[in-house]
Amino acid sequence: MEELIDREVSRKVSILGSVLPFLKPYKKQIFGALCALVLTSMVTLMFGQGLRLLIDQGFSQDSAGLLGEAILVFVGLTLLLAMGAFVRFYLVTSVGERAAADIRNQVFAHVVRLHPGFFDENLASEIQSRITTDTTLVQTVVGSSASLALRNTFILVGGVVLMLVSSLKLSLMVLVAAPVAIGSILLFGRRVRGLSRDSQTGLAQVGTQVSESLSNIKVVQASRREALDSRRFAKKVQAALDIALLRVRVRAFLIALVMLVVFGAFALMLWVGGQDVIMGETTAGELAAFVFYAFMVAGSVGAISEVLTELQRAAGAMERLLELLASEPEIKDPVHPKVLTSSGKVRISVHHLNFRYATRPDVEVLRELSFEVQPGEQIAIVGPSGAGKSTLFDLLLRFYDPCAGCIRIDGVDIRELSLSGLRAHIALVPQMPVLFTGSIAENIAYVRPGAKFEEVHAAAQAAHVTAFADTLPDGLDTQVGEGGTQLSGGQRQRVAVARAMLKRPSLLLLDEATSALDAESEYFVQQALSRLTESCTSMVIAHRLATVRDAKRILLFESGELLDSGSHFELSSRSELYARLARLQFRQAA
Ligand code: ATP
Repeated sequence: MEELIDREVSRKVSILGSVLPFLKPYKKQIFGALCALVLTSMVTLMFGQGLRLLIDQGFSQDSAGLLGEAILVFVGLTLLLAMGAFVRFYLVTSVGERAAADIRNQVFAHVVRLHPGFFDENLASEIQSRITTDTTLVQTVVGSSASLALRNTFILVGGVVLMLVSSLKLSLMVLVAAPVAIGSILLFGRRVRGLSRDSQTGLAQVGTQVSESLSNIKVVQASRREALDSRRFAKKVQAALDIALLRVRVRAFLIALVMLVVFGAFALMLWVGGQDVIMGETTAGELAAFVFYAFMVAGSVGAISEVLTELQRAAGAMERLLELLASEPEIKDPVHPKVLTSSGKVRISVHHLNFRYATRPDVEVLRELSFEVQPGEQIAIVGPSGAGKSTLFDLLLRFYDPCAGCIRIDGVDIRELSLSGLRAHIALVPQMPVLFTGSIAENIAYVRPGAKFEEVHAAAQAAHVTAFADTLPDGLDTQVGEGGTQLSGGQRQRVAVARAMLKRPSLLLLDEATSALDAESEYFVQQALSRLTESCTSMVIAHRLATVRDAKRILLFESGELLDSGSHFELSSRSELYARLARLQFRQAA
């Protein structure tokens, strides 16, 4: 709820019209809900007439028979109201839930296809809250606010008409006094809402510190920050409390004001109307009906003003959701994609590749990069941090397109292939393997949904995943926890290698882990990898000595340029930068 209040509002309530396409599948339910809504509003208004009958014919004429009839009418109306309310609430709320679910699905399906560069400029956490919080706001509108607004408008109009019919004199009095009362209540209401928002923000800061301190409890305790952090926390709590208390004061005043206005008006109406009853100008029943309608009208004005803020908030939410839906993927399939005929070992040619990230347009990350990798060749890439090695992998996978130059696989520019066709040929083993919530087997099969269990098992065996999975009670079905936190770094690395084995790629892109593997698992994984590299072309970002020394050809990168290429010994003798990197490697390995 806090989050819902925090979201920005939009003045353009009309934007909510764009929810309509999402409601199309539920036309029947909406029609049913509208019928129920009209029925319940009419019944609510008829209660006033029921009240009039009850008083004028039941009480005033001392007739038990008439009283019984009037009560029967009341019970009938109540039953109708209950049924109508059930149908309306059920239909409207379920349509709201369904529409929100549809929007969530559509937005996620759209966003998940956007180019990775989009996420450089848009925070994943913001997109997350659009898909969860903003859709909930839209759901509130479809599932309650819209129907509430409609029902109250209906009651407002009907109530005013019936008030005028019941007593013209009293109606005119109310219509003159009401705007003043409503205006002052709205003014206070706005102040309360503003303070509520401030209070939520304060509370959010409190929450941030709780999660930051508690999720890093070891660092907090090792740094002996418990007392200091508690004091910092207490300050934030105090700030939130101050605002909350101010809100409580204003709110208490608002409640008193509402009571005063409502019951003051009530007393005035009874006084003026009561005199008319005494004079015989109107009946007690008519007065009661009038008071009833006046209350209904006041209630509906209050409800509509509340709903208006909700509508604005939902309009803001819809604006943000539409913005996401309107974002076009920049990396797209060509209109007539070519198909790679070869499978297995492919030839990679990189031609005068230039690249800058859109978020940092003045930094040239790759400059005039040209090289070839022969089918089945295994090359190592080395270079200082930030040299552009991982960026090259990103371009090979077409997460980004080059600013100039091109990459060809077996002579075909990768932009001429479909994204799925290109990526089907490539397996990437990143330095920090990414695991998803689920079992070890599911994580391995992530790259090939529908793979047979035997295939998954074989890959797991080859990457020495079974070596640790078999010691766990559920074996390959062991859950890895959110983000794979229940596995060690080395185990995660092996799962990532198993994925590559299962995929049987034509091109293996391996960003070596520097330290995740112990000597023994490193040996086994290395063996598994060398079996894999025999059947495909591979490019390895090499951090480790073994790869550097065994590689037949090493590409040396610096600041986005290919500085040199050759074997370990060739480069050691002719490149100062390489010799320095190698020296560091040797020292580390030693
Ligand atoms: P390391 O060995 O440390 O992983 P690297 O050689 O793989 O380094 P890259 O990750 O390719 O280097 O980064 C090359 C340059 O591009 C760096 O200067 C980095 O700051 C920048 N860079 C990387 N990713 C982005 C991004 N998404 N947006 C903007 N700049 C980026």
